[in-house]
Amino acid sequence: MDNIKNNITEAWLQVHGYLKKKLPGHAIHAWFDPIVPTGFRNNYFLLEVPNQFFLEWIESHYKDDIVKALENTYGETINYKFLVSKEKTQKDKDKISQNLGVEIKPKRFNNLNLKYIFENFIVGSNNEFAKTASESVSNNPGEQNFNPLIIYGGVGLGKTHLMHAIGNQALKNNNDLNIVNITSEQFTLDFVNSLRKNKTIEFAQNYRSSDILLIDDIQFFRGKEQTQEQFFHTFNVLHQSGKQIVLTADKFPGEMKGLQSRLLSRFQSGLCVDVQPPNFEVRVAILLEKAEQNGLSLDYSIIEFIARHIKNNVRELEGTIIRILAKSSLLNIEINSQLVAEVVKERVGGRIGNDVSIENIVKKVSEVSQVKENDIVGKSRKMEIAEARQVSMYLCRDIMGTSLNNIGMFFGGRDHTTVIHALKTVNEKKANDARIKKMITSIRKELGFSFL
Ligand code: ADP
Ligand code: MG
Repeated sequence: MDNIKNNITEAWLQVHGYLKKKLPGHAIHAWFDPIVPTGFRNNYFLLEVPNQFFLEWIESHYKDDIVKALENTYGETINYKFLVSKEKTQKDKDKISQNLGVEIKPKRFNNLNLKYIFENFIVGSNNEFAKTASESVSNNPGEQNFNPLIIYGGVGLGKTHLMHAIGNQALKNNNDLNIVNITSEQFTLDFVNSLRKNKTIEFAQNYRSSDILLIDDIQFFRGKEQTQEQFFHTFNVLHQSGKQIVLTADKFPGEMKGLQSRLLSRFQSGLCVDVQPPNFEVRVAILLEKAEQNGLSLDYSIIEFIARHIKNNVRELEGTIIRILAKSSLLNIEINSQLVAEVVKERVGGRIGNDVSIENIVKKVSEVSQVKENDIVGKSRKMEIAEARQVSMYLCRDIMGTSLNNIGMFFGGRDHTTVIHALKTVNEKKANDARIKKMITSIRKELGFSFL
């Protein structure tokens, strides 16, 4: 043990090797290659990292991995500490490079989220074009027709994911690229700070030296004239020298308010692609992917139920999966339909089935039974009509919990005892009559309630 402690380079090599097996190559490259082990002090393994941002990032993303890797190397738990490097001498760097067999370059830091990659982006007709264009840009940055690339659309539909995926993919292709990735708010803040500190020249140089400039949510430039001015110049410099610009926005540039028209017209000179809310099948695919990513296996009926109720936003779909996981592990209960229904209910802010109405149910029953809607809610006592009516009543009660009186009123002004009788009849038939059972199952399914 002391022997290894003395030989920290050897130990770090083992740690590095262990991590290399566990983590993707780009993560090792971005976050572990630049680390320099500097010694043991007070029983802490000291690791030098290039800057504070790096330190925070690696602590928040790779802590568990590092702990495990150290444990694996030393056979016991080892404390470690990161130190932010003061200027390292070239000699140190050469030494560590030699040992690790990698070349340490002065690294530029981008805060690309390494989880946002094309490989885990689910494609459907709602985002296919945006994804294809993004991939193309990442593989051929700066190509005229796709410059700038503007990805626009509503909240939680994958714009930021695609933007980071472009950065990650471009870096994978060419690790020397200088990728600047920032939100429009950070850009503004950076600019304001540079004004305060009389450092606008450095500010400009910083951005203008990027090979790919990624700016998220440019709608927040709205009304910030001086920032827009700066951005306009940065844009032009980069564009003229064939550097790629990728922007995201909440709307098509032509419809954005509060941005200078010269900017908007520049934006439209490139390619604008939109992301739309996913349709049902894409929601199912996303849920399956997110469940798998989180090590969760869910019955298809549960996935389908979530997909039927959470519709507009991928972030919400993901949030639902995470919430289900959290709830089941915090309360230490199995994931079952009740738990899922509860979580979905919270998420949609109230009763599930809010978007199901009596009219809806009648319509579905009418389609399946071939009895006219008017007849279902009418007075006729003909057998097939009465049966369709009873099934409708049953489903209203079962899915939406509609009160007996309201059901009675809707279906031809009947009183609640008639409704009770109808519910009882259907319950009995359901147990004995395969046709009725099948009908109810298929209507429930169409309304998104197959599993409850
Ligand atoms: P936006 O920037 O459009 O508001 P994000 O890119 O932040 O949305 O997406 C929200 C979340 O949903 C992210 O965690 C992202 O990974 C995920 N997401 C969005 N679209 C998809 C998709 N098509 N496939 C997989 N995950 C997606
Ligand atoms: Mg975003």
